[in-house]
Amino acid sequence: MHILLADAILANDTILRDHGIVFHKTILEIASNEDLRLRYRDQCIELGNNSILLPGLINPHVHLEFSANRSTLTYGGFMPWLSSVMANRDDLINDCNDDCIAHTIDTMLSNGITAFGAVSSYGYDLDACAKAPQKVVYFNELIGSDPKMADALYGNFQERLFASQGSAREGFYPSVAIHSPYSVHRVIIKKALAYAKEHHLRVSAHFMESPAERQWLDENGGDFKPFFENFLKQHQAANTAQEFLSYFDETPTLFTHVVHPKEEELALIQKGKHTIIHCPISNRLLGNGALDLEKIQAHNIRWTCGTDGLSSNYALDLFEEMKIALFMHHGHDLLPLAYELWRSVTANAAEALNLNCGKIAADYDADLLVARVDYPINEQLPIHLLLQPCKIESVYIQGKKVKGNN
Ligand SMILES: [Zn+2]
Repeated sequence: MHILLADAILANDTILRDHGIVFHKTILEIASNEDLRLRYRDQCIELGNNSILLPGLINPHVHLEFSANRSTLTYGGFMPWLSSVMANRDDLINDCNDDCIAHTIDTMLSNGITAFGAVSSYGYDLDACAKAPQKVVYFNELIGSDPKMADALYGNFQERLFASQGSAREGFYPSVAIHSPYSVHRVIIKKALAYAKEHHLRVSAHFMESPAERQWLDENGGDFKPFFENFLKQHQAANTAQEFLSYFDETPTLFTHVVHPKEEELALIQKGKHTIIHCPISNRLLGNGALDLEKIQAHNIRWTCGTDGLSSNYALDLFEEMKIALFMHHGHDLLPLAYELWRSVTANAAEALNLNCGKIAADYDADLLVARVDYPINEQLPIHLLLQPCKIESVYIQGKKVKGNN
């Protein structure tokens, strides 16, 4: 059993001053430092001045297999970026071996990420994810819009999925990702979703990332048209947006991006109890625009923040992601938005990924960060934590210290 006494705890939408927590694998109790000192005496560890306990952060969307990218891929527009991915994909994948992926996972841990959703295109990140100290929701990705290739591509997806199911450990969850509405044939989408439903697997998909996707799905035209005609000899989108969403009717899903939705699509997302993953940095770098947070909130849709992969980001750091979002959504009141961002990468992400963490509250897993700031703590702490980086001194996952000294 551990007892940590802090200057402040960021607990489930409030700041508790001079409080501590008692935890084992799960959190047993939260109480004032005074009370804990009386009851537990020398079992207490005093974290000292300007110490803060934070819930571990949850990154619901990352592509680890592309972690070798630094300046190879072209930023500024979705189509130039996609062409650069097609041209450099093999080199980038080859340049990131197990060590590179393990190093990337460790960097996320240093950044306070105690759980993540990894979208895997090839299964090359399986070993590193299975060995990671974090909770991992491992999304095996299905792609393939050509009906002639569908069976073979489904077979490949199934092999990867089965392999991940073979490496199950506590805190590792084999799952399913459907690449996008434009890149997967409906027959194999339905097959994969039926399997996911039968086996209670988590599901994720990209949706409405770029203006090109919107145009291709709506009109079979726009910037995607030459791409599909030249590369895949396709003249028509694999699905309409509404058809695509209808496949997920009975499967609460994490939809990534959703920068260009129509009102009726947001209504379907709300109705299906789905979650939107907001990737502000990736969206900006690929010229895709900004998520309309007000609309998402008006539809009462749960949302969370993710980093996407290093193929469209310079860091896998949710503090950075929240900071960018804080500035991007400038119409929102600052402090309430900061609180919402914190909720998005903790409680919201945990609920969407079906994990028992994301809150500093009794009975939740003890996934915790011991952090320290070099300024006085006050009621605007959720803002200051985004503007002035805290030092993460220790990281606990299920009560076990996986990084640091405290
Ligand atoms: Zn992605």
